[in-house]
Amino acid sequence: ESQLNPNYSFENFLEGDSNRLARSAGLAVAAKPGGTSFNPLLVFGGVGLGKTHLAHAIGVDIKDKYPEKTVLYISAEKFTQQYIDSVKKNNRNDFIHFYQIIDVLIIDDVQFLSGKSGTQDVFFHIFNHLHQNGKQVVLTSDKAPVDMQDIEQRLLSRFKWGLSAELQHPDFETRVSILKNKLYRDGVEMPDDIIDYVAKNIKTNVRELEGAIISLIAQSSFNKKEITIDLAKQIVEKFVKNTKREVSIDYIQKIVSDYFQMDVDTLQSKTRKRHIVQARQLAMFFAKKLTKASLASIGSQIGKRDHATVLHACKTVNNLSSTDKQFRKYVEDITKKLSV
Ligand code: ADP
Ligand code: MG
Repeated sequence: ESQLNPNYSFENFLEGDSNRLARSAGLAVAAKPGGTSFNPLLVFGGVGLGKTHLAHAIGVDIKDKYPEKTVLYISAEKFTQQYIDSVKKNNRNDFIHFYQIIDVLIIDDVQFLSGKSGTQDVFFHIFNHLHQNGKQVVLTSDKAPVDMQDIEQRLLSRFKWGLSAELQHPDFETRVSILKNKLYRDGVEMPDDIIDYVAKNIKTNVRELEGAIISLIAQSSFNKKEITIDLAKQIVEKFVKNTKREVSIDYIQKIVSDYFQMDVDTLQSKTRKRHIVQARQLAMFFAKKLTKASLASIGSQIGKRDHATVLHACKTVNNLSSTDKQFRKYVEDITKKLSV
């Protein structure tokens, strides 16, 4: 009903310097929902750093302490979908009413509302109603409010009313304790030097850290091999390689359009304006370089172009980066933004 996952608890959310502020703000909110100045509480940070986990933990803890309160966890994507459906079915008011009577509303990944003005508008009204009535709002986002794009100013200013707390990359000690806790919960024993090795080498985020340890356990039980440092090395190597290659064409378009401060629709549009054409060519170039997609598939995903256009784009980017200093800087900057 409330969509909360009990495994995503505070107990399982290991504390470290990288998350101390966000974690303790979450605990404060859970102790007194709507009764602290952390309203809304906005937790922001990169992918796999624990936003969803922490959002659930707050809800789970509130449900535990205040069983009578209605707590709802929902992704911004699902919220948007529900809203669109309600408009189609002509019951927009029921939709609004449903959300206005909730005690604790947790919306995950609010960056998804970017550019969706209808949903932002309805959320603005729901937010105001809840806030005025002392109800708690918890939000997560991949960016700080100051860096959010295509979100209405009035909504951004509401986001800043409470507390914005960042989840940063966990340091080595925290990575070790997260791994140990996971192994303990799964009832798996592993030598310390192997845990240290994995924690030392996988720094991207917690999801990948957990992924590596899961593969390690799976590999060893599947092949009936002991978990050795050599096996750990193999897995970590594969993991580091795979995650480097794992960028999507959507992600590339997002990064490139963000870099040039335009939206993805503009990047894909038919216009011949030079800076937009260049942005599009750069997106095609990086898609060719960083994904396994064919020229045809890249073209169809980047504004429905054909394979010849993509090929031409790649040549142009190569040429320009050897002749044009400014252009070379674009390529370097975007390369940095695209690498983990
Ligand atoms: P995000 O929503 O920021 O992308 P998630 O909340 O999905 O990240 O976290 C990814 C994985 O890492 C989840 O399995 C989560 O339980 C785990 N995780 C993240 N931070 C911690 C932490 N501090 N302690 C334990 N597990 C964590
Ligand atoms: Mg998440």
